[in-house]
Amino acid sequence: MNSSKELRLEGHDNQSLQTRKDQAFARGQATLTSAFIERAENAELWDVEGKRYIDLGSGIAVVNTGHNHPQIRKAVQTQLDQFSHTCLTVTPYASAVELAEKLNAVAPGISPTKSVLVTTGAEAVENAIKIARSYTGRSGVIAFNGGFHGRTNMTLGLTGRVSPYKAGFGPFPGDIYHAPFPNAYHGVSSQAALDALAMLFTVEIEPSRVAAMIIEPVQGEGGFYQAPKDFTQALRQLCDQHGIVLICDEIQSGFARTGKMFACEHTGIEPDLITLAKGLAGGFPLAAVVGKAEIMDAPHPGGLGGTFGGSPIGCVAALAVLDIIEKESLCARATEIGERIVLRLQAMQTQYPHHIGDVRNLGAMIAIELVHDGDAQRPNPELTAAIVTEAARQGLILLSCGIRENVIRILPPLTITDALVDESMGLLDKTLEVLIGSKN
Ligand code: PMP
Repeated sequence: MNSSKELRLEGHDNQSLQTRKDQAFARGQATLTSAFIERAENAELWDVEGKRYIDLGSGIAVVNTGHNHPQIRKAVQTQLDQFSHTCLTVTPYASAVELAEKLNAVAPGISPTKSVLVTTGAEAVENAIKIARSYTGRSGVIAFNGGFHGRTNMTLGLTGRVSPYKAGFGPFPGDIYHAPFPNAYHGVSSQAALDALAMLFTVEIEPSRVAAMIIEPVQGEGGFYQAPKDFTQALRQLCDQHGIVLICDEIQSGFARTGKMFACEHTGIEPDLITLAKGLAGGFPLAAVVGKAEIMDAPHPGGLGGTFGGSPIGCVAALAVLDIIEKESLCARATEIGERIVLRLQAMQTQYPHHIGDVRNLGAMIAIELVHDGDAQRPNPELTAAIVTEAARQGLILLSCGIRENVIRILPPLTITDALVDESMGLLDKTLEVLIGSKN
């Protein structure tokens, strides 16, 4: 080994860890803050310097059930004492069967349902496309502007945003088409989006060659925009008319986040397939495709799977997550948290009408959009980035998102207390006061 590459382990404060990280990691795997975490409990984090944070990001919508939930810890510890890996496709285990049965039972709709277990969100999306192509014998896929579906080659192809995700990484697989996502705040009506889809069928691909349409019921990375009910229902009709598989990507919006188990339940439609990850296993890497049995069974035996797919640790954690969501009524709690936070955000918008252009939420999937002079068409990504940095300094973890990079998203653990919600909004108030208070 080259001695110049010796590890320097002396510094354990945030700054020296950040310096070491910058030297050790490819810069592509960047971090939002320099808070190196040592301990976490429910909605709070403590860094290596002992500084405390309220976590309104939940590790990007993963710990909906809170950090270190005792029931999940116990389930995982018990599983670790038994075995940690045998490979589901070699020597299976009961927890995977029980989990698939439970996922089939909670999936929206009335059709008989089956599941496949994988490891990451992108892998779930990849598999959903494979299943849809196998079922229809067609290749075309339609995704939506601003959508995010992952960072692998196929899922980047589906993702509807160039920077930072797609830039420099092509070419992507063929036969993927993007259509406008309706967005009232930015002047795209459901009808305009449907007209554009009709045009796509006229100029790009005939519907009889389309295997699937994939949509996030609430766009996550794209900016927390909810697909209107009439649009989603029209997509369902179009898919039925043309034999197209409708995939709802619930990776960010699922698992009680929006006040229902899955966000598509707000629209009254039954998707053909849903993709799940993030909140599914409360912090352990597990993902799934769940959908209509007839479609799910299209690929031949051995056509789906993977070494770590359906890890036993992930399965027992996910069983605990499902139990906690039910026992602790986390769907109802998501609605309450959303209402409590939105009231505070609306007061902030009244105070800073030039800066906060929009406040929106579906349950506890909550966002503010930062603009100049109250104008939706004049995004303010600089203020957005400054809010994330100043909030972290104040002890509050916030995430940004949005194709215009001007949205602050708020995704608290659904187990957060009212006292911590109120304290976190006080910290956001203080952050805005520091950044824009006197200049408003
Ligand atoms: N789909 C959606 C809607 C997502 O939000 C994400 C992750 N942000 C993914 C897919 C990809 O998931 P993963 O990072 O686990 O691959």
